[in-house]
Amino acid sequence: MTRMLIVGPAGSGKGTQSKRISEDLGIVAISTGDIFRVNIKEATELGREAQGYVDAGDLVPDSVTNRMVEDRLTWEDAKNGFLLDGYPRNRTQVSALDEMLSRLDVSLDVVLELTADREELIQRLKKRAEIEGREDDADEDAIRRRLEIFASETAPMIAEYDARGLVRRVDGLGAVDEVNARIMEALKP
Ligand code: ADP
Repeated sequence: MTRMLIVGPAGSGKGTQSKRISEDLGIVAISTGDIFRVNIKEATELGREAQGYVDAGDLVPDSVTNRMVEDRLTWEDAKNGFLLDGYPRNRTQVSALDEMLSRLDVSLDVVLELTADREELIQRLKKRAEIEGREDDADEDAIRRRLEIFASETAPMIAEYDARGLVRRVDGLGAVDEVNARIMEALKP
């Protein structure tokens, strides 16, 4: 059983690789971005609360996001391990996650960091905007904002997990299979 995070900037391939890891390891992949998008599409209360932030590329307020993740982690399918994609994204969320996991009496095994350079990220996001029609990928200001928040809030947060000795870093550049192979190698005990 594995309890892990996947972290990396927008466009680094977290979503794609999460699906593969989830199949390979038999653990549920939980993406906060996906949960927000589904709720926005279905116009739920959570979706209405999140929409403005997601469209602008800003973080949804921590209180909303933390509550949503805490609820999701108590579902039956997360009892045998999980992969969190897109959470935590700042230090406040790290503390909230620490508390949630201690209430559940479990701990994290590994934090997988996917890296990619800025130019590659922007190219990938533009391509994804054409294929998937995600509005936050089509909007250059929103892309810039997401990459900015990653640099200012998420990267420093990763350093905290690094200090705990949990981070394994993998180059996200290359074909999906290639990156997947690198990840599986990096996850070996
Ligand atoms: P990406 O990694 O490409 O930026 P995601 O699908 O992970 O995209 O997230 C899309 C949007 O959902 C974010 O820009 C943000 O508005 C919101 N979001 C996702 N995860 C979080 C989080 N942990 N905290 C706050 N907002 C979040």
